[in-house]
Amino acid sequence: MISLAMPNLTGNEKKYLDDCIDTTFVSSIGEYVTKFEGMVAEANGSVGAVAVSSGTTGIHAALTAIGVKYGDLVIIPTFTFIASANAVRHCGADPWLMDISEADWCLDSELVRKEIQERCERRDDGLYHKERNQRVAAIMPVYTLGNIPNMNEFRQVADDYKIPLVADAACAIGATYEGAKFGALADLSILSFNGNKTITCGGGGAVVGCDQELLAHVRHLTTTARVWPDYDFDEVGFNYRMTNIQAAVGVAQMERLDSFIDTKRKVRSYYEEKLGAVAKEKGLGFFPTTDGSSCWFSGIVLPEGEKLDAAKKICTKLKEYGIEARSFWKPVHLQEPYKDCLKSRVDIAESLWQRIITLPCSTNITDDELMKTVTSVLSVMSTVD
Ligand SMILES: *Cc1c(COP(=O)(O)O)cnc(C)c1O
Repeated sequence: MISLAMPNLTGNEKKYLDDCIDTTFVSSIGEYVTKFEGMVAEANGSVGAVAVSSGTTGIHAALTAIGVKYGDLVIIPTFTFIASANAVRHCGADPWLMDISEADWCLDSELVRKEIQERCERRDDGLYHKERNQRVAAIMPVYTLGNIPNMNEFRQVADDYKIPLVADAACAIGATYEGAKFGALADLSILSFNGNKTITCGGGGAVVGCDQELLAHVRHLTTTARVWPDYDFDEVGFNYRMTNIQAAVGVAQMERLDSFIDTKRKVRSYYEEKLGAVAKEKGLGFFPTTDGSSCWFSGIVLPEGEKLDAAKKICTKLKEYGIEARSFWKPVHLQEPYKDCLKSRVDIAESLWQRIITLPCSTNITDDELMKTVTSVLSVMSTVD
C-alpha cells in the first residue's frame, strides 16, 4: 500500500535519540528542546518558539495567553481539523464558525469583517456579539494545507476591532506569505509536529510569534506557571512541555525542512500535470495553492454537486489498487459536540468537504509510487461517469 503521509525518518533521528538515552536527558529539559525551538523560530521568522506537547495544547496555551476566557467567542473557520475547535472549548469559550473562501480553503476575511460589522458592538471591556452577549476574544484563521490566507486583511480587521489575531498554522511549516516567513503575521501562531505533518516529532507542537513578553507568558503557562526556585505557582498552568526525545526527532527533521517542502510542492505539481487531462474531461479540480504554499497535502476535488458517497467510492477503488486515498476534514458545525455552535454562512465548506480526495504525498514517496498513483487514478476515473 502506498501511504497517504508517512514519516520520513532516514536522517539523524536515530543518532539523536541514542544521544538522549546515553545522556539520560529524556524528559522536558535538554539541549534538543532548546535547539529545536531555535530552528522552528528561525524557519518561520519568529523571535522565539515555545515547544509544546501537541498542536492542540499549543492552541490552548496560545489562546489562554492572549486572554480567551470562559464564555468568550473565538472566530474560526468551520473547515478545519477538529482540534482548532476543541482548543477553543478547552478555554471554556465557544467557537463562532464561519465559512472559507473557495480560492484558498481558508477562513473568508470578507465574511469575518461583515459578520463583526453587523452582529457585534464595542463595549467597555471588548467587542461583543450583541445577540449572544458574548465577548469576541480572538480571530483564528487556519493555514489550510499550508496556504496562508489574506493576512493583511485579517490584520486590518483585528486592528479595526481591537481583537487579537492567532493563526492555527499547525500544518503550514515552510509556507511563506508575500515572499516572507509567516511568524510575524499573527500575534501568535501554532505549529503541529504530529506524525502526518510535514515535520514530525512523533507528536508535538510549537507556539511562535514576535512578541517576547507574550511568548514568555506562553512558556510560563505551558510549564505549570511555576515561580522558581520553590513550589510557587502564580496562575493555573498546564504541563504541556515537549520532551527532549520528541525534540531530538524534531531537530533531525528540521535539518531537512527545505528538501521536505520541495518534495511536497513537486508532488502537488506532478499530480496537476499528469492528471490535468482527465481533470479537464471530468471536471475535477486540484487543491488550491497560495503563493508560497507549503503544499502539505495534495489531491483532487470532484465536481460541484457531488456528494461524499462518490468520493468514498473512488477511495475504496484506489485502495484496491494499493493506493491510500481518503476524504478530508468534515466541517466542525457538522460534528456532534459543535452542532449547536454559533455559525455564519458555511455553504462553501459544506459542499467542498464531501468532494475532496487526498492522494499519497509523503516526503519519501518514490517516482515509481507517484507514477503508480497517477496510473491508478486514471484507471479508476475511467470507470466512473
Ligand atoms: C494537525 C492539526 C492540528 C492539531 O495538531 P496536533 O498536534 O495533532 O494536536 C490542529 N489544527 C490543524 C489545522 C491541524 O492540521
